[in-house]
Amino acid sequence: MKLIDAHVHLSDSEYDKHTDELVTDANNSGVVALVSNSMDLHTSIETLKLTEKHPRLVYAALGIHPWNVSVLQENELEETLKLISETAEKKSVTAIGEIGLDSKYDKIWDKQLMVFDRMLRLAETLNLPVIIHSRGTTAQIVDMLPSYKLKRVLLHWFSYPLGALSQAVSRGYYITEGPPATYSLGIREVIANVPLTNLLTETDGPVKYFKQPFNGQMTKPSFIRAVVEAIAEIKKKPVDEVAEQIAKNFEEFFSIKL
Ligand SMILES: [Zn+2]
Repeated sequence: MKLIDAHVHLSDSEYDKHTDELVTDANNSGVVALVSNSMDLHTSIETLKLTEKHPRLVYAALGIHPWNVSVLQENELEETLKLISETAEKKSVTAIGEIGLDSKYDKIWDKQLMVFDRMLRLAETLNLPVIIHSRGTTAQIVDMLPSYKLKRVLLHWFSYPLGALSQAVSRGYYITEGPPATYSLGIREVIANVPLTNLLTETDGPVKYFKQPFNGQMTKPSFIRAVVEAIAEIKKKPVDEVAEQIAKNFEEFFSIKL
């Protein structure tokens, strides 16, 4: 069974000494692809190093997360955009991410909008997929996106509203869901409402999950199996069939052959 972690942060400092352990865990648990998302220039550079160390297992998403907008250094935005363009030429970047808007950081709202716009414009130019964080802003982002010519859009950890979900699906966007699929009624409702062809799995590690069976332990690729099993239960389909479709979705979304 081929399992996919389409959204994780392997370059996060919390994983610092654990990356070898994570790769071993991925191999042992059937996870064949990890899309490592970046938060800023530094983690973008580190993510690229990981893809060189683990080719055909770790794939790079580069960008600036809305949480990092408030601590952007001088020239960091321009340098990150330049890095993405250069790596796109060498085809070592898989997507632009994690980018987006977060309503909890409303004091830096205008700057968030500016950074998000620059990233989306670059995705248009380079014809790269985008991975979007949209806490409290999903409906707004779904309204904004048609003004960009984007190849592929993935809304990560989609939680609400269901109206924006049907709009997103009708435009061919994908969503990712992770460990909360096993215990969150809201996330289970989203999964029930999204076609399996538009769904990918994620851990979003090092984010920790404190409910059973995760119990706050270090988030690892092996968690993906429980997510796939939860999706299979909700969709009333065999686990193998769900895993196979999600692997196909990964290939389709990122234009990568597993
Ligand atoms: Zn993330």
